[in-house]
Amino acid sequence: MKNAIDRCDICGGELAPGKTTLEIWRGEELIVVKDVPADVCQQCGEAYLSPQVSERLDDFLDEYHRHRPERYIAVPEYSAGQAMGG
Ligand SMILES: [Zn+2]
Repeated sequence: MKNAIDRCDICGGELAPGKTTLEIWRGEELIVVKDVPADVCQQCGEAYLSPQVSERLDDFLDEYHRHRPERYIAVPEYSAGQAMGG
């Protein structure tokens, strides 16, 4: 997760206020946080979080188990052998 900047680190594109969906691994668990406020690159879509949002998110990730998720989604997992192998 990166902090707020004026232009995109990756492509130099302009950032505009928007929302992003974060996928975060915590140990063996993948959790998704939707509609996180972020500055979003208008060119490549990279999202940048403000320090305040990052901090709030870190707090949530310390205790997310105490919150009931809105829903569960199934995530298909493949091995590299499947992806790369013939
Ligand atoms: Zn960009």
